[in-house]
Amino acid sequence: TAEELSHARELVAGADRIVAMTGAGISTDSGIPDFRGPNGVWTKDPAAEKMSNLQAYVGSEEVRRASWQSRVRHPGWEAKPNAAHQVFVDLERAGRLSAVITQNIDGLHQKAGSDPARVIELHGTMFESECLGCADRRDMREALARVRAGEVDPPCERCGGILKSATISFGQALDAEVLERARAEAVSSELLLVAGSSLTVHPAAGLVGSALSAGATVIVCNASRTPYDSPAAAVLRGPLGEVLPALV
Ligand code: NAD
Repeated sequence: TAEELSHARELVAGADRIVAMTGAGISTDSGIPDFRGPNGVWTKDPAAEKMSNLQAYVGSEEVRRASWQSRVRHPGWEAKPNAAHQVFVDLERAGRLSAVITQNIDGLHQKAGSDPARVIELHGTMFESECLGCADRRDMREALARVRAGEVDPPCERCGGILKSATISFGQALDAEVLERARAEAVSSELLLVAGSSLTVHPAAGLVGSALSAGATVIVCNASRTPYDSPAAAVLRGPLGEVLPALV
């Protein structure tokens, strides 16, 4: 409602140390489907969830083949940032945004112009590959070129181990340093602005609880319900491309 929006606007206007927490919903307008929204990848094809599971990936060449095929075709390679990403660039330039904690792997905050040093990628990045054996990290373009050239499951060129996108799968631990940085930002924020996340994936979602316990104000901007709607100071349901520019 208009009242909710104006209340949320006041909260944003009064905060100097804002931290954004974003999820797949901020990139749907850029053509990258989310997982659990109405057009989500898993909503449409529950079997696709397997590809995001570390055990399944390690245990099955078939899963890896399918995963590389979908990686090659990922809309993120061509995607461009949208109006919602731009809002966080503007807030940062105004000196009011200390960090963007994102669950996304698509690099769109950086493409929009957010300072890469302030973007905390909790779930890694699709632009690099990582060996599960020796942790060798490389530009993802190398592996993709090998897949396009016919290698269905390209092994690590250094140790022969299993190669994977440098993104966090279910069953895989987050980088402890990255998570710690995100937690430090969340608990020291005055206002945590959640945008486009169902807040159901942990430990990412738990950062909202940490921020609340530390006394931060939380605003949730998401089309569907989240477990943090009730403790939030404001909840805005409209499309992010409209809600965020109106809010900031
Ligand atoms: P999610 O799919 O669980 O939730 C996305 C939420 O965004 C949904 O609740 C949906 O209702 C909402 N939403 C979608 N489009 C919206 C719009 N235009 N306006 C307002 N709300 C909108 O995604 P999540 O919470 O980020 O967690 C899922 C996991 O999937 C994360 O680990 C994330 O890394 C990963 N993921 C990333 C990408 C990406 O990098 N773009 C895409 C899909 C999934």
